This record gives sequence, structure tokens and C-alpha cells, in this order.
Amino acid sequence: MAVAKRTFDVVVVGAGGSGMRAALALSQAGLKVAVLSKVFPTRSHTVAAQGGIAAALGNVTADNWHWHMYDTVKGSDYLGDQDAIEFMCRAAPEVVYELEHFGMPFDRLDSGKIYQRPFGGHMQEYGKATVQRACAAADRTGHAMLHTLYQQNVQANTHFFVEWMALDLIRDKDGDVLGVTALEIETGEMMVFQARATLLATGGAGRIFQSSTNAYINTGDGLGMAARAGIPLEDMEFFQFHPTGVHGAGVLITEGVRGEGGYLVNKDGERFMPRYAPTAKDLASRDVVSRAMTIEINEGRGCGKDGDHVLLKLDHLGDDVIRQRLPGIREIALKFAHVDPAKDPIPVVPTAHYMMGGIPTNYHGQVVAPYHHGPEEVVHGLYAAGECACVSVHGANRLGCNSLLDLLVFGREAARQIVEDLQGHPHPKRLPPNAAEFSLARLARLENQKDGESVAEIGDAMRKTMQKHCGVFRFPELLAEGVEKIGQIAGRAANTKIRDKSKVFNTARIEALELDNLIEVAQATMVAAAARTESRGGHARDDYPNRDDAKWLKHSLYFSAERKLEYKPVRLKPLTVESFPPKARVY
Ligand SMILES: Cc1cc2nc3c(=O)[nH]c(=O)nc-3n(C[C@H](O)[C@H](O)[C@H](O)COP(=O)(O)OP(=O)(O)OC[C@H]3O[C@@H](n4cnc5c(N)ncnc54)[C@H](O)[C@@H]3O)c2cc1C
Repeated sequence: MAVAKRTFDVVVVGAGGSGMRAALALSQAGLKVAVLSKVFPTRSHTVAAQGGIAAALGNVTADNWHWHMYDTVKGSDYLGDQDAIEFMCRAAPEVVYELEHFGMPFDRLDSGKIYQRPFGGHMQEYGKATVQRACAAADRTGHAMLHTLYQQNVQANTHFFVEWMALDLIRDKDGDVLGVTALEIETGEMMVFQARATLLATGGAGRIFQSSTNAYINTGDGLGMAARAGIPLEDMEFFQFHPTGVHGAGVLITEGVRGEGGYLVNKDGERFMPRYAPTAKDLASRDVVSRAMTIEINEGRGCGKDGDHVLLKLDHLGDDVIRQRLPGIREIALKFAHVDPAKDPIPVVPTAHYMMGGIPTNYHGQVVAPYHHGPEEVVHGLYAAGECACVSVHGANRLGCNSLLDLLVFGREAARQIVEDLQGHPHPKRLPPNAAEFSLARLARLENQKDGESVAEIGDAMRKTMQKHCGVFRFPELLAEGVEKIGQIAGRAANTKIRDKSKVFNTARIEALELDNLIEVAQATMVAAAARTESRGGHARDDYPNRDDAKWLKHSLYFSAERKLEYKPVRLKPLTVESFPPKARVY
């Protein structure tokens, strides 16, 4: 079957903060850039980010990037690569001011400077006291940021392909990436996007869990594409559970609520966080707070008739502060928890939120991976940025507000690197004759399959398995069983049937293709979690409660085809400063 082709200098898959920040720099450099997105660009999950962007501006309290770097290394439970962390924290003020000059409507202080609020794990003077580092636009920071970047891209003539789903990477026999295949969702037409550089910016995969703060489109497509092309996935055992998802609904209540002075209480009305984190209290790192909440619930101090959640109290902030600084949270509380937060506390539980792992990259956004299990090398033509990438700046646990920062810093840096790399490659490489064959076969399988289970059934089984077997605390028997189960579910997923082909919009086919990606991510997460016999950051093992630096100060690499793990050392050496050696992590 003949498949249409279009050629660009760069194809960016994903129109969230990372994809749009990169696309802007690439278009401004005069390159012909295509951005593909499953949804209208400003509906990407970045739009839902509430709390803020971390940068040591020091507008409210004294601050500097070195403290920010320390907090990020400590927050990562020492698994973050310190060269990348230094790079990000140093660049933070600059990318925030850039965004301000693009027109970002930040909240302001009376002095006219950007408003900053406290956030979990961000401290002054290497952990002594909380600091105000999160630059915010009320509780709609991501919304303001994404719209600002979209407008700038329109002005810079970026080509948007809206409601297009990228399917697979095109890789030649040298291992170089020459573009992607993609499907127009409305028509079902496939096209080859040939490019000298391909940037994956497809966001997270929170939808592998049953209870998640993530959008339905967060299905880990970039990771699935990488895995199918033989690229390993890094540090997949580390998934962040956000302490405050609305009980029963999963919708996020930003940590900014605790930044503004809200706190958690158990069924006795006790503010319990000081028992777990005497200094930072409710603003300790997310993994610490989520574990504390889970212990409170498990030991019988949970709230409600089933004792299965705790309460987030903010009525003492007053209606005015809530309406001015947290208007979106007020709405979420009213709509999803049916409480007015100025009067009553919000019922909350830890909820799957952020994937620390991803496609392995260096801090220039280049994908770095072994080819056929050889030594690690740069994959020519392929870059990744944002939540789908593992740089790794977040290590085993990400600090709040460091993701929006990561999007800006590494989106921009990946673009700079692409511009530099393309100078040596003025012409696209020749596409292999069978460039679209693999994707065509996947689509044909779906069209022709006569029986088998529905995508919904298998998706449901996967989400339940992840939730039960790979949660806030991880147990040895549950993990071992989980590995078995998720393997079986993957087998079943290869035989799904699309039941509702007659529908006007071919969502069933899209969901089936998304399921392929979700399953890749779920398998990688479960297998890597079962293998890591220590507790670090977001990965808390019941049978190995302590961190084990002697054995485990290393990144995992999961190879999908063999369902096998390899490991590589953490980069402890920063670029210009002394490294922060691992030590006990207390807040
Ligand atoms: C509710 C919520 C609140 C948050 N609040 C904060 C916060 O306050 N501060 C902070 O730092 N972080 C926050 N985070 C985390 C942060 O928002 C995300 O990590 C970040 O926005 C991800 O951005 P991204 O550019 O990687 O991807 P996304 O914004 O998720 O965008 C992904 C893009 O990829 C496209 N895409 C995916 N697959 C395909 C495909 N196959 N083909 C074509 N296009 C595809 C999508 O259409 C979309 O355009 C929050 C996250 C959530 C869920």
C-alpha cells in the first residue's frame, strides 16, 4: 500500500510544554518544524499543571540555584544525575524570565516582581527552612504557560498537525531515526513524516494506574514507540504518587494548597505530618507525605466510614485567599468533593501522578542507548524532552514545580542541540523502502482480528493490576504475582478486537494503539520494581525498607523485547561545582 510522505527538518511529537518550547526555538532558528498532537495543542496535559514553576529568583525569600540543586539531588534520593540537575537549576531563572517576556501572565508581588510560593521539598540553606521558589499564575500556571507558548509558535510559523497520532519510529539499519509514521485520527489515513531530527515530547503515562491525576491521553506513546524500536526505558520502577488526589475522583489538588498554609489531618483531627517530617512538615517531599498518609490509613487513623482517606484542611486561610490564590482548587473541591474549602476540609488520598523514568537522554536531549546491547551511544536523529524523557533530573522522586521547569530547560536545550547537529546533516537520509510496513501490519492486525477481548477489558485489567501490585508500598509476593499477571495481560493485548468499527469516530482503534503503549510502560514498571530490592524515593519496598547505596546507586534500563534489565551508574559529578554525596534523607 502506498503511504503518503511529507518531509520536514524536524518533527516534534507532542504539543505540551516541552514540545512547544522546543518547537518555538526550532522555528525561530529557521527550520521547517512539524508538531504532531493527539489533541488540540492547548489541551495537552501541561494545561492542567496548577502549582508553579521552580526557579531560585529570590523574589520573596533569599534563594540561590545551588540550594535548588541540593534540594533536587536530595529529593531524587540521590538517583538524579548531578550534571543534569546543575544544568537545570542554573538555567531556571533565565527560562522563567524568557517565558515572562513571551507574555506569561504570572501573579505579581506589590513590587511588580513575579509572585513565588513555597512548595514541597524546596528549602533554604540546604534544608534549614522552607523557601518561596514556585513562580505561579494563581493555580493555573500550566494553563497560562501552554497558551503563551502556543501563541508564540503560531507567530513563529510552526506547522501543527492536530489530532494526529504518531505510531512508530522509523529506524534504518544503522540504527538512525529518520522520522515517524502517524495516523490522522479523523480519517484513519496514515502518513510518513520524514525528518532529519525527531523529538519525542509525548508526556507521561499515569493511565497505567486505576487512580490517576493524569489526562486520558497520557498513555506513554513515546515510550511505547521507543521500546518497539529497541530503545531501553530507564528507571521505570519510580512512579510518583501525589499526596492529594481527591478521594474517589483522582483529580489533583495542588501542593500549592499546602504551600499557602493548608495541612493534612487524620480522623482524630491530628495534624500528623510533624511526626514524620519535623522541619518541612506538610511540605516534605511527595514520596514522604504519601507514605505517611498511607501509614495513617493502614493503622486505622483514616477518615470517612471506610477510614480510607485523610483530610486536607484550608478553611483557616479564609475565603479571600482561597478565591484569589486557589480559585481552580475551590472549583475542583466544590465539583468533585462536594465541599466548600473555605468551610470544610477536602478528602484526599495518594494518587498516581508522575513518571520519573523514561527514554534515556543526556542533558542535551539526545537519546543515549546501547544498540543491540553494545556500548551506550547517541541514537542519531532521535531526541526526547519532558515527562517522557529520563535525563535524569528527578531520579527516584521529583520535587513539585520541577517538571514545568524541566520542560522549559530541556525543551530549549534539545532544540539548541538539534540546530547544532543538523548543521552537519543538511540532507535527509534515504528512507528504507519498508519504512511504513511495521505500522501498516499493526493496523492490519486490528482491522482483521475477528475475535478476542475488547480493549476496554484488557485496559481495565492492566490498571487494576498496577494499582494493586505496584502502589505506594510494594510487597514481595504482590510484585512477583504482578510480573506474571502483567505478562499475561500483555499476551492478551496482542489479540484485542475492535468491536465498534462502525462508530463515526474511530476511537476504538486509537484506544487499541494506546493500549499497546500503556502495556509497554506497565510491564517495564512492574518488572523493574520487582527487581530493585531497596527503597528509594517513589519506590518503597515493604521487605527492603532502607536505601542501599552500595548495591543500588544505579539506573535501571529495561529492554522490552527480552523483558530484561541492565544497570548503569548514576552520574554523581556535577558540571562545575562539588557533588552532593548521598546521605540520610530527612525533612
Ligand atoms: C494535574 C497535574 C498537575 C500538575 N502540576 C504541576 C505543577 O504545578 N508544576 C510542575 O512542575 N508540574 C506539574 N505537573 C507535571 C507536569 O504538568 C507534567 O509533567 C508536564 O506538563 C508534562 O509535559 P510534557 O510536555 O512532557 O507533555 P504533555 O503536556 O503531557 O503533552 C504531551 C503531548 O504529546 C502528545 N502526544 C502524546 N502521544 C502522542 C502521539 N502518539 N502522537 C501525537 N501526539 C502525541 C499529546 O497530544 C500532547 O500534546 C502536573 C501534572 C498533572 C497531571
